Amino acid sequence: MSGTRTITILGATGSIGTSTLDLLRRDRKSWTVKALTANCSARELAALAREFDAELAVVGDEACLPDLQDALAGSGIAAAGGAQALCDAAALGADMTVAAIVGCAGLAPVMAAVEQGGTIALANKEALVSAGDILMQSVRDNGATLLPTDSEHNAVFQCLAAGDLADVRWITLTASGGPFRTWSHEQLAGAGREQALKHPNWDMGAKITVDSATMMNKGLEFIEAWHLFPVGIERLRIVVHPQSVIHSMVEFRDGSTLAQLGPSDMRVPIASCLAWPGRMDTACKPLDLPAIGQLTFEAPDEDRFPATRLAREAAYAGGAAPAMLNAANEVAVEAFLAGQIAFTQISAIAARTLETPMPSAPSTLGDVLAVDAEARRRATEMLEPA
Ligand code: NAD
Ligand code: MG
Repeated sequence: MSGTRTITILGATGSIGTSTLDLLRRDRKSWTVKALTANCSARELAALAREFDAELAVVGDEACLPDLQDALAGSGIAAAGGAQALCDAAALGADMTVAAIVGCAGLAPVMAAVEQGGTIALANKEALVSAGDILMQSVRDNGATLLPTDSEHNAVFQCLAAGDLADVRWITLTASGGPFRTWSHEQLAGAGREQALKHPNWDMGAKITVDSATMMNKGLEFIEAWHLFPVGIERLRIVVHPQSVIHSMVEFRDGSTLAQLGPSDMRVPIASCLAWPGRMDTACKPLDLPAIGQLTFEAPDEDRFPATRLAREAAYAGGAAPAMLNAANEVAVEAFLAGQIAFTQISAIAARTLETPMPSAPSTLGDVLAVDAEARRRATEMLEPA
């Protein structure tokens, strides 16, 4: 790649953010860092901003701004705090924005980045789940390029280079099944925080790790795929593939199935976005298929893991339903991580929130945020002690 491109990382201190910075570290000449953001983690953020010579560092939580200013003193790097400052950072117009904030909190900054018409590597699936139609419309209106960073969607994106969307018979998202894949109903009811946080294949942030254990991650990804690859809900399928070697597949109408394989390392899909439409080196361990030995597949069990069914129903319902599902899940996961509710209550609260009266379909970012806030209020009321 010749010359340098500018980059902003929203959620720079998280799992995706630090994996992205690890890739940049090996290819410093190609990139100029505009802004790095975090929720708080002021010292960590300041250290990264200094290392990468960023123009601006932003904390979403304004209370953490004094610490950030302290840590950046004398560096010449600007510091800012608060929700609006995150959007302002996203609106600096970097060539590449990596959207790696977790949750609907990332939605407004993603929208701000899209409005600049640059390239957005989207990891923040909750933004697309909550506001898919609005976000995709804004991508078209602003001539932005949205590159899917989520490993499954990145896999599908790569497979689709081999054919037309109109010729797709199935898009199959693979799911590891998470740490509780073989657990009974009774075991699931007693599943603890530490057990849920131990993913068999991936090392990720806490929220997505719990989402993988409930299979809500795959549910959210189903809705994400529905927006990114408009082949129709009925052409999207989920298959459990415990080895997480095949990251997803596309079957075309002639019977050809293309799959993307790789190590369970998010640096692979992130690198594919950073270098797109080219390729770059990574330090990832190559896939050792003889050592892996076997690839296996199972149908998802929506009886034990109802989250994918809830997501499919929310996609069919459309309107406010996906944003309601996402918000309720965020509240429930947080409550589970705080020891307030049992593991099986997470999907139960999401289901019950979807049964409450449906707000009208959101048509603006403000509408989505209002649906999100209302669903959070309703889900919070449902929290019962574990
Ligand atoms: P993480 O918890 O490790 O990091 C989240 C980042 O967002 C941190 O920098 C944190 O400071 C920031 N943040 C959190 N809450 C915020 C708020 N309210 N306002 C502003 N900033 C906030 O999460 P992660 O695992 O890196 O995941 C990030 C996103 O990428 C999620 O949407 C997740 O679903 C998606 N994703 C992650 C992985 C993975 O391997 N980690 C894989 C696929 C998709
Ligand atoms: Mg994924």
